Amino acid sequence: MHIKALVLDKFKSFGRKTRIPLYEDFTTISGPNGSGKSNIIDSVLFALGLARTSGIRAEKLPDLIYNPGHDDEAGGFAGEREASVEVILDNADGTLSREQVVSAAGSENVGDIEEISVRRRVKQTDEDTYYSYYYLNGRSVNLSDIQDLLAQAGVTPEGYNVVMQGDVTEIITMTAGSRREIIDEIAGVAQFDAKKADAFGE
Ligand code: ATP
Ligand code: MG
Repeated sequence: MHIKALVLDKFKSFGRKTRIPLYEDFTTISGPNGSGKSNIIDSVLFALGLARTSGIRAEKLPDLIYNPGHDDEAGGFAGEREASVEVILDNADGTLSREQVVSAAGSENVGDIEEISVRRRVKQTDEDTYYSYYYLNGRSVNLSDIQDLLAQAGVTPEGYNVVMQGDVTEIITMTAGSRREIIDEIAGVAQFDAKKADAFGE
């Protein structure tokens, strides 16, 4: 399974509906500083519910909605606004079964599951009132339904599916002990350390 395309609409710097195709093996996105490369990664984390707002470089959800005056002095509330991000997953290899998708969507009516569409919308109705909506193949669902489904395909918020800007530097400048913990985590040794600690506790 891989991400086939992203559709960003009024998300961060993407003021116009933009479809970004991604290839199966390797896709490079290049552009000048501030052109929106990291915003594309933020859009994936946002739509799949993989990060808190700090992880997507925003203080609060409405900061993710396109704002033409973003770099100017903070203006007042300028009426109802909304942003949407759709992540289209290629499931042609059957990573997720129809049963899994149907169960997550809570409906038989999920269409063709060769493609799985996860969409999140954030809508601001008032200065400090906003709502989030999630859709799985067009059916309205909860964030936990999306997260449970993705976890069955090995995509979790704790996983290293995304290496953020600064993560590599952090690993390089880390103490040997902390770096060892990451390696233990990846190698699956950490769970035994936890069990050992529990056993000693008893
Ligand atoms: P770099 O090469 O420096 O990492 P980048 O291509 O990753 O740059 P991003 O961080 O993705 O750039 O984009 C930053 C731009 O996005 C800034 O110009 C910022 O003003 C704009 N931006 C962020 N949030 C919004 C928003 N809600 N509305 C409009 N523009 C926004
Ligand atoms: Mg960047």
